[in-house]
Formats: sequence, structure tokens, C-alpha cells
Amino acid sequence: MSLIMPLPEQAILARREELLARLRAILPAANVIADETARRAYECDALVMYRALPLVVALPETVAQVSAIMALAQEMNVKVVPRGAGTSLSGGALPLEDGILLGMAKFNRILEVDFENRCARVQPGVQNLAISKAVEYAGFYYAPDPSSQIACTIGGNVGENAGGVHCLKYGLTTNNILGLEVVLMGGEALRLGGKHLDSELYDLMGLMTGSEGLLGVVTEVTVRLLQKPVSARGLLLAFPTVEAGARCVGAIIARGIIPGGLEMMDAATIGAVENFQPCGYPLDAGAIVIVELDGTPAEVDHLVAVVESIAREEGATQTRISQNEAERLRFWAGRKNAFPAVSCIGPDYLCMDGTIPRGRLPEVLTRMDGLAKFHGLRVANVFHAGDGNLHPLILYDASKEGDIERAEKLGADILRLCVEVGGVLTGEHGVGVEKRDLMGEMFDEIDLAQQQRVKCAFDPQHRLNPGKVFPTLHRCAELGMMHVQSGKLPFPELPRF
Ligand SMILES: Cc1cc2nc3c(=O)[nH]c(=O)nc-3n(C[C@H](O)[C@H](O)[C@H](O)COP(=O)(O)OP(=O)(O)OC[C@H]3O[C@@H](n4cnc5c(N)ncnc54)[C@H](O)[C@@H]3O)c2cc1C
Repeated sequence: MSLIMPLPEQAILARREELLARLRAILPAANVIADETARRAYECDALVMYRALPLVVALPETVAQVSAIMALAQEMNVKVVPRGAGTSLSGGALPLEDGILLGMAKFNRILEVDFENRCARVQPGVQNLAISKAVEYAGFYYAPDPSSQIACTIGGNVGENAGGVHCLKYGLTTNNILGLEVVLMGGEALRLGGKHLDSELYDLMGLMTGSEGLLGVVTEVTVRLLQKPVSARGLLLAFPTVEAGARCVGAIIARGIIPGGLEMMDAATIGAVENFQPCGYPLDAGAIVIVELDGTPAEVDHLVAVVESIAREEGATQTRISQNEAERLRFWAGRKNAFPAVSCIGPDYLCMDGTIPRGRLPEVLTRMDGLAKFHGLRVANVFHAGDGNLHPLILYDASKEGDIERAEKLGADILRLCVEVGGVLTGEHGVGVEKRDLMGEMFDEIDLAQQQRVKCAFDPQHRLNPGKVFPTLHRCAELGMMHVQSGKLPFPELPRF
């Protein structure tokens, strides 16, 4: 395992009892989790490869409590890791042994639904799907729909700028929120945006979205509500190879059509899904593409016919068009279950997340196959093809000598390939600890220093979620230069450029 985290600070560990006592003065006793067994429940997020026992878990219920905890952390120079549901796949919510894990699960109320302004004010611990469920009676929904939406929280979605099937047409989290309340390191609460469009002065809300818990703790989110499309139909298209499927994806977009969803799965994933919870995917296909077209019935009927003819031109071996809502949902059921399904065909998997220009999909999928063979591992592909957002699931066996390292190396090679073809290191899962040491593949030292200056403006002491996103541990005062004390570099074991 190649991940190196900063060593726990002895000065913080030495004051644990004092910290616990002061947290208990802010929170009800049950909301301060100090017992080791109970803390184990928080020792990782969905990137289960990396684990650490948090110093203490704090579960605030009010903004005043969050402020008080942040002020206390600043005063005692203690680190804080914000956490929603812990479904991050990049280790963004990985705890620190010398840090408070700030669990936001008790912030679970929908505060206001405002159809007139087409928005809802929600607490950060509200689950993504719960927002749509709360407004579906009136024909509305919240568009970004991560596959983890039955579990992940809107606070975590803001932290990661989460995406999902519908984001190709309706935008990512950043395009679907109007306002935020954020508590900064030190305890100050800040309101950004509101129920209106456009921001005041700098777009700090845009900056907070996708900041992976490094700039502040989100305590309230105003989300945009969209009206549900009048009708939607799904197409299930089968292709002999992933390359042919990828060409079809490009051809649909090139024809000027932006589907409500455009996803792809390879043969390994199709097989896994049909084993896990059969939904009628063709087992003899090299790849399937699922397309959703939404709008008025006449518009949808027209688009369905166009997409079907494109698919045939691109060599589809089967085209199925949903005849009713149940069938449309069945097409999606397998996609939504793809991750748990893949976990049944191998002991462990590492889910990568890189984005490439759509036109390079066929080439990248072929080269990825070569990389997997080179490292001696299997990869199952399921991804947001319309966005060019890849999710290769690298299958490995953690109990086998060297497998973890092989999986890490293959993952890094895949991400390097994404950058090489003009893409980016991440799509919707963030950098976290997973891609931290690869940031140099994409950014030079000046870029990284500029990005860290933003961090320093909000958190000069690097107390909020440190060790994530940035590959070096510059303190703000030393930005751009290496601080040498008694002839020793701080954290000499950390990779640096
Ligand atoms: C099976 C599966 C499928 C997935 N599918 C998708 C997908 O389709 N699209 C997608 O985008 N993601 C997907 N994910 C990844 C994950 O669900 C998302 O990144 C999600 O946004 C994380 O939300 P969470 O509440 O679990 O946040 P956490 O994992 O708890 O935290 C994520 C990050 O946000 C920060 N954070 C959390 N809450 C706050 C807060 N209140 N204030 C400030 N920072 C905070 C954390 O510090 C961390 O950096 C999937 C994950 C799994 C396990």
C-alpha cells in the first residue's frame, strides 16, 4: 500500500482527554464518541483500502454546536475531518488519528420547500434521494443522482461536486445549488448565495463546491428543484465491442442530441449485474449503452427514432425501446446496482474516476484493456459515457500478496492515460487521498501553489481535512518553499515534487 499520511501530532494526542471534556461541554454526551469499538465504524469511507481510527467522533445537531467545535479546534490546534455518509470513493472522509471526525448525519431535516422559487433549503445530512422523494408529489425532483443516492448526503455531494446519470443534461451539483451556509475554521458562519440566481462578487459558492471539506463545513444547502419531464423513454442498445458502443455515444452527441442519461457497461459488468439481480441485459453483448430521452411525448418519440437509427448505423446487434415506465426503470436497475454487483465477482474492487474527451473513448478503452493485462488484473467498466467520465472497477484480492499495490499502479496508469489524452484526473469522486500524489501529473508547482493559496485564505493552519488533495504539506507561511528545522524536512516520508 503506497499511501503515506502525515504522522499524528503528539501534541494533539497528549491533549485528548482535555479535548473530550471540552467537546462534552458543547454536545450531549451521546454525541461524543470516544470508545474505540464505536469509533471503528468511522475508520474509513467507501475507499476501504485505507483506514485510520479517528481521535474522536463528534456529532453536532445545530449550527451553534458546529461553530463551537470549530472554534475549539482552532484554539486547541486540532484537525477536523467533515463527514456525511462516508460513501466517498477517494478517501475524502478518511479520518485522522489526531483529528476530530465531524459527522454531519444528525443534520437530517428538510427545512423548507419553496415551489414558487423552485428550491428547497435542506440540512447537509439529508440523503440525496430524500430530496426528490419529498417533492415528487408535486412533480418536482433534484437532478444530480449519484448511484449512491440512497445513502450519500447533500453535504457530501457539495464536498465532491457529485454527479450521476442525469448530469449530462441537467448539470452537476455545482449547477443545481443556489445557496450555502458554511462554518469556517474558527467558527464563523457564512451565507453564500440564496434563493436567487448569480452570486455576489466572487463565486465563493462555486469555490466551496467540490472543495472536499478543505475550506469549511457546509451546514445548509439551498438546492434547485426541477420539474419532472412530462415523459421519458429508455433505449437499451447492445454492441459487439466496447469500441463500437463508444463510437455510438460520440455519434449521438455529434448529432446534437443531449440525452437525459447516456451510460455504458462492458461485458464483465453486464455478466456481474445479471448474476446479482437479473434485469434482462443481453449476456452475449460486448457492451451495452443505455440512453434516456425525455421531454414531451412527440419530442421523445422523434428522438427515440433518431437514436435507434444511429445505433444501427454504428453496428448495434440489438435495440430495445422501453414500452412503459416499469421497463424504463428495469433498464436502469442494473446500472444502479452495477457497483454492488461487481463486488460479487471479485473479493475487492478499486473504483477509478477519470474524465476524457468523449471522442477519445474507443482508443482509451482499448488502451485500458492493455494496461489491465500488463498489470495482470481484470477491469470491469461501467461509466457515464456521455460525460466522458470513466469508472473502471479494478478487481483485486486484498488477501493476495502484492495485489493491492498492483491495483494502485494500474489505477495510476489509467489516470495518467486520461490526462495524456487531454482529460482530467477526476470526474465526480474527487481527489481525496486516492489521487493526491498524482496531482503532479496534471498540475505544475505553480498551479499547485496557487490552489493552495486559496486553501490558506480559508484555513491558514491547515487544520481542516489535511493530507487530502494536495501532495505536499506546505503550511501557508512557507508556501513555495520547503521549511527545514534542525536539518530535517517535516514529514520526510511524504512524496513531493
Ligand atoms: C456504490 C457507490 C456509487 C457511487 N456513485 C457515484 C456517482 O454516480 N456519482 C458521484 O458523484 N459519486 C458517486 N459515488 C461517490 C459518493 O457517493 C459521492 O462522492 C458522494 O457525494 C459522497 O457523499 P457522502 O455524504 O457519503 O460524503 P462523504 O463520503 O462523507 O464525504 C465526501 C467529502 O465531502 C466532505 N464533506 C462531507 N460532508 C461535508 C460537509 N457537511 N461540509 C463540508 N465537507 C463535507 C468530506 O470531508 C469528504 O471530503 C458513489 C459511491 C458509492 C459507494
